[in-house]
Amino acid sequence: MVGHRTQDYWGRPLQDLRISVMDRCSFRCPYCMPESLYPEEFRFLSGQERLSFDEIVQIARVAVQLGVRKLRLTGGEPLLRADLPELITRLASLEGVEDLALTTNGVLLPRQALALRQAGLHRVTVSLDALDPTTFEQMSGGRGRVEQVLEGIEAARRVNFPKGIKINTVVQRGVNEKDVRPLALYGRQRGIVVRFIEYMDVGTRNGWQISDVVRAEDILALLSEDGELERLPSYEQHDVAQRYRYRHDGSEIGVIASVTSPFCRGCSRARLSSDGKLHTCLFSAEGFDLRSLLRGQDMFSLEEVMRSIWQERRDRYSDRRFHQHDKLSSGSRVEMNYIGG
Ligand code: SAM
Ligand code: SF4
Ligand code: SF4
Repeated sequence: MVGHRTQDYWGRPLQDLRISVMDRCSFRCPYCMPESLYPEEFRFLSGQERLSFDEIVQIARVAVQLGVRKLRLTGGEPLLRADLPELITRLASLEGVEDLALTTNGVLLPRQALALRQAGLHRVTVSLDALDPTTFEQMSGGRGRVEQVLEGIEAARRVNFPKGIKINTVVQRGVNEKDVRPLALYGRQRGIVVRFIEYMDVGTRNGWQISDVVRAEDILALLSEDGELERLPSYEQHDVAQRYRYRHDGSEIGVIASVTSPFCRGCSRARLSSDGKLHTCLFSAEGFDLRSLLRGQDMFSLEEVMRSIWQERRDRYSDRRFHQHDKLSSGSRVEMNYIGG
């Protein structure tokens, strides 16, 4: 049964669930999983500790009953999870799922794009921070080659996902500002929207400082060197990206100003970590342990628990950070590879 809107304390509906299917990653992007803190011997979750496909589907089904319409698979690197197309097939067949997406570093797309498409995935977002090989290598923590990701993008284009491809680029001061215009051009030439993301203080391990953030207005100033931009309306009320179009050729780019223009007011997104914790904010310290609930003998139903978690939600971290003009205390905040952005 497709469910009704469940609203939180501030009246925000639950519409969107991000599911981290894998905490491991083949890259060590310094802004996400710096090599020094995720060395070879780092203890990632065991197969037993990660949610099984059955458990993920159970949670997704309840989320849909509570109003979720969009599911996004992420990680870590989601394509490292064995048999992912099987999970996609099961999620795609849930009544009420209107949008089924995946965010990936792209490396495994040449091998997997067709199977993902056949399983019923609607869209793919590929993360690509630079076209320049040296900068790319630096931003992947020395683990990636830009050609691999470009091949991944080409593979995704060939299989023609019904809702297309997007590119995400995190912009860091002094690291990849010079790549912004070439990346936008690369996307525009292929009809792919590149969305430039302000670097965020997610997790506790990337040493984030406000001075590392390239503000959306500065990103737009760089992009304007290639032509005049006009703002486009959002597709949906809760879209996080600001959309722009070049007047001269109609091509589109996006910016996600999570730091300088927070969008907590419209935030309708819950996140499920690889080990089954439900987080109601990207910056939350603790998630609710749904895995224990599913594996235990608890009397409460999953639906009751998930509904009350959302109804009690009051998160608005980025709004608070914005008003304090700096980072809030990081405490024991969840790490990006468990929760997936
Ligand atoms: N490994 C996949 C990938 O890179 O696309 C999926 C997981 S990754 C955590 C999801 C997204 O989060 C990527 O687009 C990545 O660039 C973004 N991200 C990671 N750390 C970030 C940060 N500190 N600020 C902004 N975006 C970040
Ligand atoms: Fe891996 Fe994605 Fe994080 Fe980079 S951003 S380390 S590719 S999970
Ligand atoms: Fe949503 Fe939390 Fe981000 Fe605000 S800070 S937009 S509440 S995830």
